[in-house]
Amino acid sequence: MEILRTNAEMSRWRDECYRKKQTVGFVPTMGYLHRGHLALVEEALRRADQVVVSIFVNPTQFSPGEDLDQYPRDFERDLDLCRELGVHAIFAPEVEEMYPAGFQTRVLVDRVTQNLCGLHRPGHFDGVALVVTKLFCAIHPHLAVMGEKDFQQLVVVKRLSKDLNLGVEIIPHPTVRESDGLAMSSRNTYLSKEERQSALSLYRSLLAVREMVKEGERRVEVLIDRAKAIIEAEPHCKIQYVHVVDEDTMADIAEVTPMAVMAMAVFVGKARLIDNMRLWPG
Ligand code: AMP
Repeated sequence: MEILRTNAEMSRWRDECYRKKQTVGFVPTMGYLHRGHLALVEEALRRADQVVVSIFVNPTQFSPGEDLDQYPRDFERDLDLCRELGVHAIFAPEVEEMYPAGFQTRVLVDRVTQNLCGLHRPGHFDGVALVVTKLFCAIHPHLAVMGEKDFQQLVVVKRLSKDLNLGVEIIPHPTVRESDGLAMSSRNTYLSKEERQSALSLYRSLLAVREMVKEGERRVEVLIDRAKAIIEAEPHCKIQYVHVVDEDTMADIAEVTPMAVMAMAVFVGKARLIDNMRLWPG
């Protein structure tokens, strides 16, 4: 497994793959890998000849006061996990390599960034769009595997790849959960034992709401109230948002349709957790 530190090294590795007519699969991550990330890597390994995983905690997608400095890191462990799976290359640039002095370019994706996390984390998706564009330009992968756990991010990156003709096929992967339903996240490490128990209410609320839809409820307002009530009943939980949106536009909807996704962000202790689920039965 090659460990690449600069854009130039990354591009040379990619050129070599292209010369050998090998397809390149890419999994972007911020490291501190868990089974969710590893499932994405396995999907990429199934679909491409060569797989590169990026490990880069991207400062431009964090706002001041967020957890950039505390974000968990364990580079050696990440390398071991990737090596075991048969990853071909790791791209792990320093911040200065990605954003050298004088850097001043922005990438703005418009409508799909306006709601949900875009509303509550101003600038977040500008940072995501920028780093993903840079990574796609350095790597030129044929495909990138991304998790539905970050549902809006997936929609933003699909839009970006299409709008800018980046030519990267975006492969969505379902959310990987712990056996009790908690969506895997590097940020779960912030949770105390009690908080982790409270955090299960996110998944529980999504399941309860989906059950209501199955039984015929279509009014989004009623579903949101139910989800909020389940989460608010738990200690340590502070809801940031619960919305039901159309999965293509990310716009709020009032009635459940086959495109309806419930998405939520909840502070559990100091961890900001997100989760989502499609609501249409079947
Ligand atoms: P992150 O390291 O949090 O930036 O995530 C890197 C990639 O892994 C993104 O495409 C995420 O959506 C994906 N991911 C993170 N957690 C999960 C999960 N529990 N299930 C599936 N994909 C995930």
